[in-house]
Amino acid sequence: MEKKNIDWANLGFGYHETDKRYVSYYKDGAWDEGALVTDASITINECAGVLQYAQTCFEGLKAYTTEDGRIVTFRPDLNGERMEDSCRRLEMPVFPKERFLDAVTKTVAANEAYVPPYGSGATLYIRPYLFGSSAVIGVKPAQEYQFRVFTTPVGPYFKGGVKPLTIKVSDLDRAAPNGTGHIKAGLNYAMSLHAIVTAHEEGFDENMYLDAGTRTYVEETGGANFLFVTKDNKVVTPKSDSILPSITRRSLMVVAKDYLGLEVEERPVAFEEVKDFAECGLCGTAAVISPVGKVVDHGKEIVFPSGMSEMGSVTKKLYDTLTGIQMGRIEAPEGWIHVIK
Ligand SMILES: *Cc1c(COP(=O)(O)O)cnc(C)c1O
Repeated sequence: MEKKNIDWANLGFGYHETDKRYVSYYKDGAWDEGALVTDASITINECAGVLQYAQTCFEGLKAYTTEDGRIVTFRPDLNGERMEDSCRRLEMPVFPKERFLDAVTKTVAANEAYVPPYGSGATLYIRPYLFGSSAVIGVKPAQEYQFRVFTTPVGPYFKGGVKPLTIKVSDLDRAAPNGTGHIKAGLNYAMSLHAIVTAHEEGFDENMYLDAGTRTYVEETGGANFLFVTKDNKVVTPKSDSILPSITRRSLMVVAKDYLGLEVEERPVAFEEVKDFAECGLCGTAAVISPVGKVVDHGKEIVFPSGMSEMGSVTKKLYDTLTGIQMGRIEAPEGWIHVIK
């Protein structure tokens, strides 16, 4: 398979159209068999549920070329399960996780020429999504839906080296108690855009959201979960029903415990405690884990001992081990690596 002539190492994180995408239509109470198509555009009614009432959810994962030349994805079964949960919460028909896996596999295989080579640092980002496509004007679920998967090659996340992030404690809330924070819905992102644009204007990289009920506990950022490391090397992640269950974070907790022999804890983390941690990182598919150097709470600065120039030592070990597993350099736990070809 001849790869596309792309400058992999200098790709950013942007949309780059690839050859094939997958689509399955839901109509009259059932999903059709699905197919790969070439047209990157979608034509839907002006009154479609997704356009009027944001009835849509998505997933995000990556395909990698391993050291021995296989093309793999990382724990895609968990993305399939999470999309099932998102569909139920948004009153959309569930696209079964087995079919999700099949659709992801077919879409990546059909775009093999865009899967970046091993060692380039780039990956093929995979975006499954599902939305209400038929007209709804009274507030109710749509009757018809589309499940789709497209791919786009993306560059190395830490281009030009690792730079620890500076984040601000946001005055806005990301997710309400008993709301939709735990599902991967576009609506959670639409309402976070104002906060992130404002944070960037003020010179911050990200927002730290606190729990909306009491504003005393740490939740997450707009699109990544927190991991903290205590001064005695325990790995701690906040627990809350309104945090999106990151697959990367769940995997890093296993890596910390089983590969690095560290103690791990998932529990409520009071904002008051943050100043006592040794390291802080943000985890998600895009970066795996990016180090946080500083948290600013209305002018009050917390600078982690790991500092503003490098990853903390535990963060680095977590990063190296999980990326080693994904790239096939370190043996993966059973079922974590899904081979496409
Ligand atoms: C997708 C997402 C994450 C990261 O989840 P991964 O499965 O690790 O990619 C974290 N927080 C939010 C709000 C997200 O939407």
